[in-house]
This record gives sequence, C-alpha cells and structure tokens, in this order.
Amino acid sequence: MRWGPAGIPFDFKGSTAEAIGYAADEGLDAFECEFVKGVRMKHELASEARRIAEEKRVSLSAHAPYWINCAAMERMKIDAAIRNIMETARIAQVLGAGVIVFHPGFYMGRSPEETMRLVKKTLEDVVDRMKQEEIKGVWLGLETTGKKTQFGTLSENIELSASLEVTKPVVDFAHVHAREGGTLKKKADYLRIFTEIENKLGKDAVRHFHSHFSEVAWNERGERHHMILGEEYSPPFKPLAEVIVENGFDGTIISESPLLDVDALKMKRIYDEVASNKV
Ligand SMILES: [Zn+2]
Repeated sequence: MRWGPAGIPFDFKGSTAEAIGYAADEGLDAFECEFVKGVRMKHELASEARRIAEEKRVSLSAHAPYWINCAAMERMKIDAAIRNIMETARIAQVLGAGVIVFHPGFYMGRSPEETMRLVKKTLEDVVDRMKQEEIKGVWLGLETTGKKTQFGTLSENIELSASLEVTKPVVDFAHVHAREGGTLKKKADYLRIFTEIENKLGKDAVRHFHSHFSEVAWNERGERHHMILGEEYSPPFKPLAEVIVENGFDGTIISESPLLDVDALKMKRIYDEVASNKV
C-alpha cells in the first residue's frame, strides 16, 4: 500500500518538487499533485518533481481542475472540459503520474442514463486525443462524487470504466459515505465497494486501486467538508484497513483531510498495525 497527501503537506512552504521530498522524508510514498484550480505548472518544475519522486520512490498522481463537466449543456464548456483534462494528462506524463483524477460531471436535471451517454462521448474524445498525442501510462481516474447533483456514483464510474479504455474508478470513501447518508461503518460496508469493483472490472482493479480518504461532514444533499481523522466525524478508517489486509487488496490512499500528510501518516500507522497483527 502507498500513502500520501493531496497536495503540498500541511504547514510546508515550498515548491511541489520540494514538497514531494518532504513527504518522502516523513515516511510517505505517494503524492497527488493538485491542479484543481488549473494547470499552471511549468514543464521544467514537473521534470524536477519527477526526478525527486523517482529518487525517493514516491508514486505520483494528479488531480484535474474542479470545474470539469463532461456533460455540460454548452459545447464551449465541453471543449473546456476536454482541454482541462488534456492539460492535466500532458503534465501528468511529464510528472510520470499514473492517474489523473477528476469529477466526471453534473446531471443538471437529466437522467443518469442521458448524463452517462454525454460523459462517455466526451471521454471517448479525450481518449482519442491522448492516443494522437501518444500520452501513455496515464489513467483517467473517475472520482466517486460527494453530492447528489453530481454524476459519478460508484456504479456509474465502474460502468463507464468498463466501456472506456485507460479509465478506472477512483473511490473517494468520504464522498461515497456522504452521498449515501453515512453508510460506511463496518468492514462489510467497505468490502461491498471492493467486491463491486472486482466483479465488474476484475482482480487487477482491486490490486492497483487509487483512492481518496478523509472523514467528512455531510447533510441531505451530500458532502459538505472533508474533516480531520479520528475526531467526531466518520467514516471510520480502521475497518477499511482491515478489509484491505484481509483480502489482499493493494493500491494507493491519498489523504484529503485538512491535515493532509499528518493524516496520511496516521492511516499508514493504523494500517501497519492491522497488517502486523495479522501475521
Ligand atoms: Zn477526493
């Protein structure tokens, strides 16, 4: 398993490249580069970040801009979604990041089926462009979304992934929990997520999964805020660690808690404890 922060560690001042080195020195081995407000990183800095990541054996991923909507009503906004995903894919290739994560889109009053059709059409265009530009080794990561107005339930993302090349679901456990009104409590609740992925996408999908974790505050519409681990919120992390250990799943968990690296280390510690008790 790999653990890392969603962006520059809590309390750290410096460039992405320096932050990757810092996270590695703390004991982490994954890092998600955040392009949520746009891709502005120079290729030079991305190459430097890659060099440090390789030297310190940190695996990188990237988060594409928040405003991406693959099912937008206007052609202009669809083009912007494609442009933003492509910009993230290009910088991901320079970084050596294996997956770019994004929220696929919004229903905007349309049926899930109609929205699925539109998202799929947009992503087919992205996949074609990635081929034309010979971008390889970069997966499109469809993040499970936290609000009921957003396309991107676990099942929707799995279905899309099954029908599109280089596409895989990225489970944000906080979002699943918030959207379903607090369903993740015990091992069985986490296991059904992995089981659904494995049944539809095969063993590889649960042996190389990419995911986000934090506790979360939510209301009837879904996600409100990502929260610090182990305070009064949920979902609980330990049952997830147990499910991963007991079933031999493997992958990366990115901490999206307000404490980023601090909570990534906390999760790693809990996981290591669970794993060593099993032996
Ligand atoms: Zn997330």
